[in-house]
Amino acid sequence: MTSFAELELRPELQRALDALGYEEPTPIQRETIPPLLSGHDLVGQAATGTGKTAAFALPLLQRIVPGGDAPQALVLVPTRELAIQVAEAIQRYGRELGARVLAIYGGQPIQRQMRALSSGVDVVVATPGRAIDHLTRRTVDFGDLRTVVLDEADEMLDMGFAEDIEAIMQEVPKERQTVLFSATLPARIDGLVRRYLSDPVKVRIHREHSGAETSRVRQVAYLVPRAHKASALGRLLDIEAPTAAVIFCRTREEVDSLGETLGARGYRAEALHGGMTQDQRDRVMGKVRSGATELLVATDVAARGLDIDHLTHVVNFDLPSAPDSYVHRIGRVGRAGREGVAITLVEPRQHRLLKTIEKATKQKISVETLPTVADLRARRLELTRSALQETLRDDDYEQYRVVVDNLTDEYDLVQVALAAVKLAHEATIGGPDDEDIPEVRASAEPPDRPARERPKPGSTTTIFVSLGHAAKVRPQDLVGAIANETSLSGRQIGAIEITHKFSTVEIPKAAEAEVIAALQATLIKGRKARVERYKPPAERPSRPPKEKA
Ligand code: AMP
Repeated sequence: MTSFAELELRPELQRALDALGYEEPTPIQRETIPPLLSGHDLVGQAATGTGKTAAFALPLLQRIVPGGDAPQALVLVPTRELAIQVAEAIQRYGRELGARVLAIYGGQPIQRQMRALSSGVDVVVATPGRAIDHLTRRTVDFGDLRTVVLDEADEMLDMGFAEDIEAIMQEVPKERQTVLFSATLPARIDGLVRRYLSDPVKVRIHREHSGAETSRVRQVAYLVPRAHKASALGRLLDIEAPTAAVIFCRTREEVDSLGETLGARGYRAEALHGGMTQDQRDRVMGKVRSGATELLVATDVAARGLDIDHLTHVVNFDLPSAPDSYVHRIGRVGRAGREGVAITLVEPRQHRLLKTIEKATKQKISVETLPTVADLRARRLELTRSALQETLRDDDYEQYRVVVDNLTDEYDLVQVALAAVKLAHEATIGGPDDEDIPEVRASAEPPDRPARERPKPGSTTTIFVSLGHAAKVRPQDLVGAIANETSLSGRQIGAIEITHKFSTVEIPKAAEAEVIAALQATLIKGRKARVERYKPPAERPSRPPKEKA
């Protein structure tokens, strides 16, 4: 098992990782970082959630000399969200190094990016469209690049960025390291690999794994946006009422912060991670073994080799970075013939990794809808009912008869009983956790890509773009331009129709002004377009688009 120390990263990077609470490299990092450090080109098959960003970011930061005149590393990504996210990650890893990182993407005033570029940048993270814009204006110089990363290459091709990538690759030095990451490796990716990578090392996270040892574990996953994970966890813990559970997080920081959150919500929870002394760990494990603590929040490293026999639940607060660690984690329940439950919280973006895990373990993880507030209330009432039933069975309540007798002078017996139940209920059930958690639809078979949202009637508008088949415009060019230049994601874009001379695109009404301004300012298939609200035939003399895209 390789540790970060064995990777021999420069001390500034190691310090940044320590500060972030990363305990050990993820499998994809373990396999990609050494060949990248020794200068190889590399193709990595890895989805979001595997730790792939650090897998390419650490080696590229290892190679740069911060403070140069021109950028030394370029990362191309398909969307602006990813550009921001990746740039933030590289910034975090490169903080101690003083690396200057800039995200350039559409939808942000280009002048601001030009100013930032001219004041000096070491690492550029860009969407292809905006990178071309800057190259055309000569506001960026890719002549000093040492590393080029194509991240989520399959998505970039899907969004119609093939030509943009081609144009950008003409501007980068021949002597360079090229890295390609992609969740899937369809044949089209081979074309990119052949053209731009030289003798690349190929890495994928291993898939083979027998699921035999986990067959007694009920495996459930819930799709929850990051911001709502802690509330979702609370709701699930209340419903499931585990005797003892281990909750896995990826970093020390997350372990500490979730431990505190759960404590504040009234759970008996303890944190366990590699940053604690042996003494502290022993104390925590003592509490877990004696049952004084029901929830143990831990990193993979800290929980390695732990054996807790009364464990009923394993919770993956963060999806593990590879199928193997998933199997290790959930293998802690369902031992000795007992049944266990493994609950995984998945951020909608990490859908793919969940599928990879299912394939590797050859076991179905059932994606379910989070229990509602009503479910939770029903469950709590059920707990109160069974607590009362137990008290009735114990037959040890005679001393309270005087209170009941006294009250029945004024109230009827049912009223008195109801008030007593209310008191008991409120005493046994901790603070309510009734925060609204947005529902992310759970289909039995999660799609690789989120389905397009069905817009509410009247909530969309159609825009006209003065380029069509004659300009070789395809639907993915329009989707790519919009997703690249505006705050909309591809799935918010509705029907697209392309005629010989022009195209129309259905978008949310609220984004009309933004989309029109953005598309006017950018190039589609290398050409400027006139963009305006589409006027149906009744309002304009020209004919409506007939041809289907
Ligand atoms: P990515 O697949 O790059 O989107 O990363 C997924 C998440 O894993 C991010 O939140 C990272 O901060 C986190 N992460 C990446 N590498 C590690 C590591 N070695 N240990 C713990 N967390 C990590």
